[in-house]
Amino acid sequence: MAISFELAESSQRAREHYHGVALEQMRPISRKYDDHEHELPVEWVDYWWNEGRKENPSQGRMDDGMVQVCIQAEELCWGDAGLYLRMPTPALGGSAVSAAGTPEQRKRFMAAFANSPHPVWGAMAITEAGAGSDAAAIQTTAELDEETGEYVLNGTKIFCTAGEGASTVEGGFVVVWATVDKSAGRAGIKSFVVPAKTPGLKLVGCEKKLGIRASDTATLALEHCRVPRENLLGSAEVKKRDPKKGTGDKGFKGAMATFDASRPIVAAMAVGVGRAALDFVREELARQGVEIRYEAPACRETAIERDVMEMEAELQAARLLTWRAAWMMGQGKPNNLEASQAKAKAGLAVTKITQKAVEILGPPGYSKKLLVEKWMRDAKINDIYEGTQQINQMIVARRILDYPSAMLR
Ligand SMILES: Cc1cc2nc3c(=O)[nH]c(=O)nc-3n(C[C@H](O)[C@H](O)[C@H](O)COP(=O)(O)OP(=O)(O)OC[C@H]3O[C@@H](n4cnc5c(N)ncnc54)[C@H](O)[C@@H]3O)c2cc1C
Repeated sequence: MAISFELAESSQRAREHYHGVALEQMRPISRKYDDHEHELPVEWVDYWWNEGRKENPSQGRMDDGMVQVCIQAEELCWGDAGLYLRMPTPALGGSAVSAAGTPEQRKRFMAAFANSPHPVWGAMAITEAGAGSDAAAIQTTAELDEETGEYVLNGTKIFCTAGEGASTVEGGFVVVWATVDKSAGRAGIKSFVVPAKTPGLKLVGCEKKLGIRASDTATLALEHCRVPRENLLGSAEVKKRDPKKGTGDKGFKGAMATFDASRPIVAAMAVGVGRAALDFVREELARQGVEIRYEAPACRETAIERDVMEMEAELQAARLLTWRAAWMMGQGKPNNLEASQAKAKAGLAVTKITQKAVEILGPPGYSKKLLVEKWMRDAKINDIYEGTQQINQMIVARRILDYPSAMLR
């Protein structure tokens, strides 16, 4: 079997296109919205809704253009990761609908989104005060009201990316994880599409953050929030796990499958931020007449040369793992191991690369006159959300050793 590491022509074209968008639309306002956290980046939102998304061939995020989705994420996060997360798109909410919903639900929710006359956002709310890495510990409940045929949701979700837009702007939606039966453990956990402005869905507030400050990270309260039973994604059946047969638990597994789609995208975002810092370092060194001598023997390399080559190797390894995981997803191949490998590698690589960039550049690298200090702050989140570094490493170990989750947690 031949292996090619070259991008297809269409992907190469997409890369050039999104690079131009990053350079012209994002970089000029990058500092402004880092400084003005919680302010809607209107010029970017309007651009994306009216022009940007129409030029985007992979709106649904889950079609066989997964590698292209990652290329888009890398280029736009090279522009600005916070603004990327503030784009009016179905985002993680869309990934959840695609992964856990029926074909009818996918059509219904995505069409409603695409046909909105104004910018709209999607979001996914899993995390709670007592449930982050251990998503199965969520306490939010969904009780079926047999009389009205509605689920009644109660609970509080924290750290929900795009949660402000998705909960308050008509046409948007939040995919909320809740349990329909606490006694059933994981098997009772289902995901529900909660349309923006549904009575009982309340925006409590937005976080003040270290990085990705242009992105709205919300706390959402669900107080007797009613949604039609048809908004439960996938099957309502609660089938407890049979440890002997390894069956059951399907609903939770379906919801967890969202991560197999979203982790390669987060990994690509990390690669984009890392590349922004590396490109800047290279340009700066070239400006100062410092050449990287790739052909020099290792014993003759300067410290800077070694640093830059290490940064490049880290970035390239992360990118290749990312594209592999994305390609497998697009081909319909199971990619749980590969998605976690990519996410773990890229999350670590971007934190190392951006810190090294600040170090190499010296005091100017720490100054707000440059964007390098911002990229260092934007980097760390890639090692936290969509499964922390430790959790993704644990998933990799489980898959390689073929251990069930009960044996390695
Ligand atoms: C900016 C931002 C945006 C976010 N966006 C979203 C979103 O859109 N939707 C959403 O649902 N959530 C979101 N999150 C939440 C994020 O996914 C969680 O913060 C993350 O899963 C970690 O959970 P936790 O914060 O509860 O940390 P904890 O689970 O309490 O972990 C704390 C530390 O312990 C480590 N740890 C935990 N368990 C283990 C273990 N078994 N073995 C080894 N180490 C372990 C972790 O790696 C971490 O270092 C976001 C968070 C942030 C900061």
